[in-house]
Amino acid sequence: MSGCDENIKKKLGLVHVYTGNGKGKTTAAMGLGFRASGRGLNVIMLQFLKPAKGYGEHLASEKLENFTIEPMGPDHMCGKEITREEDIRLTMKGIERSREVLESGEYDLVILDEIVNSLRLELLKPSEVIELLESRAPNTEVVLTGRGVPPEIVEYADLVTEMTLIKHPFDKGIGARKGIEY
Ligand code: ATP
Ligand code: MG
Repeated sequence: MSGCDENIKKKLGLVHVYTGNGKGKTTAAMGLGFRASGRGLNVIMLQFLKPAKGYGEHLASEKLENFTIEPMGPDHMCGKEITREEDIRLTMKGIERSREVLESGEYDLVILDEIVNSLRLELLKPSEVIELLESRAPNTEVVLTGRGVPPEIVEYADLVTEMTLIKHPFDKGIGARKGIEY
C-alpha cells in the first residue's frame, strides 16, 4: 500500500476517455498518472496493442515505485503478420488482466491505454468494456485511450476529451522521435 492520504482516495472512481485523431491521448493519460503518483496514489497503465517494453515511459515508470506499465499486445504497430484468432486471444487475455487489476482495489488509477482502438478494430464490444468497468473496486479511477470512441462508452464515461488534429509533423515526413513519441 502506498503512503497516500485516504481522503484523496474517497473522491476517486470516475471514468475518463481520451480520444480523437490528434496526438496526446496516451501522453495525457501518462501525465495524469505522473500527477497521481506524486500524490502517493497507486497507478497502473495496461497497454492494449503494444507488445513490448522499451518506450521512454517504460523506462521512466521503472524509477517510480507506484507507477507500473504493462504492455499486453497484440502487435499492430510493427507490421508483423498476426491472425485474427491470435489478435482476439491476446485481447481477451488483456481483458482478463484488466479485470484482475480493476477488481483488486490495489490500484487507485488504472489506465487502459489503446483499449478504444481494440473496440475500433472490433476485437471487443462496447458492452464488454462497460461490463469490465463495472467490475472495478470502489474508488478506482479509470482512463481509456484511443481513437474513435463509440457512443455507448461516451454515455457511460464521466469525462471525455477529444484531441483534435490540426497539424502533425508526420505530414511533412517527420517520423516518430525517441523521447517525444516513444
Ligand atoms: P501519444 O502517445 O504521442 O500521446 P496518441 O496516444 O494521441 O499519441 P495514438 O493514436 O496512440 O496517439 O498514436 C500512435 C502513435 O502515432 C504515437 O506514436 C503518436 O505519437 C503518433 N501519432 C499520434 N497522432 C498522430 C497523427 N495525427 N499523425 C501521425 N502520428 C500520430
Ligand atoms: Mg496512444
